[in-house]
Amino acid sequence: DKAASTLSYDGFSAEEKKALEQGGQKQEFQAEVGRLMDIIINSLYSKKEIFLRELISNASDALDKIRFLSLTDPKVLGEGDQSKLEIRIEADKEAGTISISDTGIGMTREDLMNNLGTIAKSGTSSFLEKMAKEGDMNLIGQFGVGFYSVYLVADSVTVVTKHNDDDQHVWVSQADASFTVAKDPRGNTLGRGTKITMKVKEDATEFLEEDQLRTLIKRYSEFINFPIYLQTTKT
Ligand code: ADP
Ligand code: MG
Repeated sequence: DKAASTLSYDGFSAEEKKALEQGGQKQEFQAEVGRLMDIIINSLYSKKEIFLRELISNASDALDKIRFLSLTDPKVLGEGDQSKLEIRIEADKEAGTISISDTGIGMTREDLMNNLGTIAKSGTSSFLEKMAKEGDMNLIGQFGVGFYSVYLVADSVTVVTKHNDDDQHVWVSQADASFTVAKDPRGNTLGRGTKITMKVKEDATEFLEEDQLRTLIKRYSEFINFPIYLQTTKT
């Protein structure tokens, strides 16, 4: 497949990429998601920074979920690094990527297919209408589609995720009509949780700057009850 061979799979070696492409299941986005992505990608909306608020909020939700389960079953937290409930944000200037990881509940293969590809919640149509009219992206989180705000700053996105009930899987998409899901050839590298890596667009490279990220993380972590660590690689 020609389209699949252009997928970026940021952070994977050439060999792993090949394995992902061979084992990947390619799927079309639900039509409404496609429309939403088009609007976001082509938006001239200037407050692109809200992608960070949405991703931090999703990481926090995922951490809340595993913490809640651990109240009745402490074993779900596992041992070592995965037992620490936290968020890590990394920027790699050379690679042009930003990633956000959490040790939250993670997603099974089925979760990936359902949550990042279709919109179960109602309200998308009204959001699309509102967007088309006013162009205000700020409300995106309230419509249950906050994840897609990554396309304000990224032209490709890779999600690696490990849920206690499944193997580690990889979801990848680059702002076209489809996404691909595959079992991770590296096995379980996360322990548990989710790592989202964004290849930053040329007009959004300001978000690779440590000072900028620090300011935004401060702004959007006011009500987050988990530690957030920032690491940047300079070149
Ligand atoms: P919402 O957060 O309002 O449900 P989003 O578009 O932000 O809408 O996210 C869609 C879904 O994707 C979430 O409900 C969740 O099931 C899943 N998801 C997104 N990010 C994560 C994450 N970091 N860990 C686990 N699941 C996630
Ligand atoms: Mg959300």
